[in-house]
Amino acid sequence: MRGSRPGGPPPGGYAFATAAFDRGVELRERHEHLQRLAADPSSRWLLLREDGSAPVADGPGLHWQPGSPELAAGEWVFLGRQDGRVLFAGVGGVPQDLAAQWLDLRAAAAMLDAGQAGLLAYARALGAWRSRHRHCGRCGARNQAESGGHRLRCPDCGNTSFPRTDPAVIFLVRDGERALLGRQPGWPPGRWSTLAGFVEPGETLEAAVVREAHEEAGVVVDGCRYLGSQPWPFPASLMLAFEARAVETSIRLGDELEAARWFAPDELLAAIAAGEVRLPPRLSISRWLIEVWLAEVAGRQPVDRE
Ligand SMILES: [Zn+2]
Repeated sequence: MRGSRPGGPPPGGYAFATAAFDRGVELRERHEHLQRLAADPSSRWLLLREDGSAPVADGPGLHWQPGSPELAAGEWVFLGRQDGRVLFAGVGGVPQDLAAQWLDLRAAAAMLDAGQAGLLAYARALGAWRSRHRHCGRCGARNQAESGGHRLRCPDCGNTSFPRTDPAVIFLVRDGERALLGRQPGWPPGRWSTLAGFVEPGETLEAAVVREAHEEAGVVVDGCRYLGSQPWPFPASLMLAFEARAVETSIRLGDELEAARWFAPDELLAAIAAGEVRLPPRLSISRWLIEVWLAEVAGRQPVDRE
């Protein structure tokens, strides 16, 4: 089993959750120093397209550019340091002549090692935030970047904004050994997964699990247990994973799912083996939640054709 229970969380069990680098927070306010580092050819730049696709080199790994005065004159975010290199992300566009293979974020994450995928998630979330906050949300003036690009300030009204993370709960509802999985319209044929939903303002994570379980599938859960979290840079979510216990198990679908059903472990494993059910991709924490449950109740892992 690749994952583990809380206390020994998952490194490597799902994508974006490992980021073995130093964020260098103490350097963020040293603007002139960072400006020089940004132009230094020993620094490394990751340039992301606005659609979130990432440049990938042979190897495979992320395609990093040496720092240059041209790059430093553009818009950037200081990411931190790794292996003696200072890392930046360009957030103002990509030079036409950049020779790299561009991969969609999911495809890139699937081929990168865990540490690089974590860096990519970090850079992607910051880039998405910067591209959506070019202007002040209060007065509309053009924002100016501060703190290594991690804070935006409006020069006219002084309003500041910070990178945002949108929390979402993702949870496996259990009834004894059975687990509840759902299907959204538009998913690939046969795909089933755990339930999930965004946390609303003023709501605890636990209350969000209870509300979403009832809204999406009509089931009542009376408690949940935190299992782990995963940055989910599409564009800036944090998935908080739980296991919840059902106290009322009859299903009544809400608006978001086209189907929901209880699976006994053997039934799910047989359906996967027969190609009738497809689990979520291995990079997702939902997949890990299902694998944790199967390992506990069946002592087995699915063999599927992902
Ligand atoms: Zn303003």
